[in-house]
Amino acid sequence: MLKREKEKERRLALERAVYLIEKAEKFKNIDYELARRYVELSKKIAMKYRVRIPKRYKLYFCKKCLYPYKAGKFRVRINKSAVIVTCLNCMHVRRFQLRDRDVQRARRDL
Ligand SMILES: [Zn+2]
Repeated sequence: MLKREKEKERRLALERAVYLIEKAEKFKNIDYELARRYVELSKKIAMKYRVRIPKRYKLYFCKKCLYPYKAGKFRVRINKSAVIVTCLNCMHVRRFQLRDRDVQRARRDL
């Protein structure tokens, strides 16, 4: 029997998971349901192959209902050094603590 190439499989899985989230980003304003499905599939692939979805891609969708964040569907508030993101589909709230380094980077990116 052929030996499974686990490393290769996981690398591919990560590639696909990221690709699906990028696709969800592209489609979220065209077909919101389809975009959600992409995120769902991406999560499934990541879980099956136990790969971590890169942090920046995790910020594209709600962890709870898996709908991608899009204009009018989420709210961002800043409280001191915390960013509070609320999903308006399921009202799930996420908090991110900012470190000085992140704030500087955010300023630079803007
Ligand atoms: Zn949600």
